[in-house]
Amino acid sequence: MKNITDKIKNTAIVGAGIMGGEIAYIFASNGFPVLLKDIAADCIDAGMERARSFFAFRVRRCRITQEEMDQKFSLITPTLVYDGFESADLILEAVTEKVEIKKKVITELDRLCPPSAIIASNTSALSVTEMAAVMGNPERFAGFHFFNPASLMRLVEVIRGDNTSEETIQNLCQFAERIGKVPVRVADSAGFIVNRLLCAAMIEAVRCEEESVASRQEIDKALVHPDVGLPVGLFKMADQLGIDLVLHVMETLHRAHGERFRPPDVLCRLAGGKNLGVKTGKGFYEYGVRSAEVTNYETRITGNPVAAVERIMTAVALEAMRVVKEGVASGEDVDTAMKFGALFKKPPFEYMSMVGSEAFSERLERFAEKHGDRFKL
Ligand code: NAD
Repeated sequence: MKNITDKIKNTAIVGAGIMGGEIAYIFASNGFPVLLKDIAADCIDAGMERARSFFAFRVRRCRITQEEMDQKFSLITPTLVYDGFESADLILEAVTEKVEIKKKVITELDRLCPPSAIIASNTSALSVTEMAAVMGNPERFAGFHFFNPASLMRLVEVIRGDNTSEETIQNLCQFAERIGKVPVRVADSAGFIVNRLLCAAMIEAVRCEEESVASRQEIDKALVHPDVGLPVGLFKMADQLGIDLVLHVMETLHRAHGERFRPPDVLCRLAGGKNLGVKTGKGFYEYGVRSAEVTNYETRITGNPVAAVERIMTAVALEAMRVVKEGVASGEDVDTAMKFGALFKKPPFEYMSMVGSEAFSERLERFAEKHGDRFKL
C-alpha cells in the first residue's frame, strides 16, 4: 500500500460552486495546493470569494494571522482551463448534479490527468459505478461526499463503486483524515448512508403529521429535545437543505428501494409551487427577513409528539439495519455517519441499544401490524 503522504500532494477541484469553493478552502487550509476550475468566470470569482471569506472569518476570530491567511489562500489557483491538471494527484469533481455533465467532466479528467491520479466525485445521489464507466481505469474512481456546510460538517462518505480499488478507498480515507474529516466507507447504493436515513426519517415525520399524530411544530420540537438529540427538527431541516434537493434524493431512493421512499405529496406540492424552504422564504415553514427565523411557528401542544418521535426513530433504526444487512456499510460506520453527517446525538444503533432489543422488537411488531410492511426488515 502506498503511503498517502507521498501519494497526494497536489489537488484540483472542478466546479467552483457552493461545495467546490468551500472544499478548496478546506484543502488549502490543510496545506494542499489546489486548482479550482469552472466553466464560467463569475462562478470562479464567487468560488474564490467563498474560500476567501472562510479564511477571513478565521482571521477575525484570531484563529490564524493575516500572514497565514495570505499564504494559505495563495495555494488556491482559479482557472477556466485544465492547465496544471497533469500534475494533480487528487481531482474532485463538484460540478452540477447532472449525470451527463459529470460524465463529460470525468471523461476529460480521465484523458488529461496522470494515470496514477485519483478522481473522485462529490455527488449526493448519483451512481459512482455509472460515472466510473466512462473511464479507462475505473479502479481509481470513487465517491468522496462532503456535507454542507463542508467546513463545519466533519463527515466524508467514501463511496466504493463496483470497480474501485481498495488502494483508492484507503488513500481517500487517509486523505480525509489529513484534512480533519471523519471518513466512513460506503458501497455504491442510492442515498449512501446519511441521505437515505434522513429521507426515511422525513417521510415518517410527514406521515405522522398526515395521520394527525402530531403537528410538524410539535414533532420538530420533540426531536430536538435532549432525550432524542437531533440538531434541528426534520421539517426545518428539509427547509434548510432545500425542498428541491430533498425531493431529488427521495426520487433516487424511491427508484432504488421502492414504495417506502415514495416522496410525500406535500413535498411535491411545495417543490411544484417553488416553495423550496429557507432559500425562497417558504417551505414547510415561512421565514422572516433573517432566514433562520420561522414566522409561522405554532407552539401549542395538541397531538402526541412522543408517539411520533418513537415512530420516526424506529423507522430510521430499521433503515439502518437494512443498510447493514445489504452490506452497504458497517453498523459502526452508520452510527459515525449519523453523528458527524447529520449531527444525531443518538445515532440509530446507539438508539436501539438504549431502547433495548426486546422492547425494540416489540415495537417493530406493533408498528408492522398497524402500518404494514415498511416496519418489517
Ligand atoms: P453549484 O450549482 O453551486 O455549483 C456547480 C458548479 O459547477 C457551478 O459553478 C457550475 O458553473 C460548475 N460547472 C458546471 N458544469 C461544469 C463543467 N463542465 N466544468 C466545470 N465546472 C462546471 O452546485 P453545488 O451545490 O456546489 O453542488 C456540487 C456537487 O456537490 C453536486 O454533485 C451536489 O450534488 C454535491 N453536493 C451538494 C451539496 C449541497 O448542499 N449544495 C451537499 C453535498 C454534495
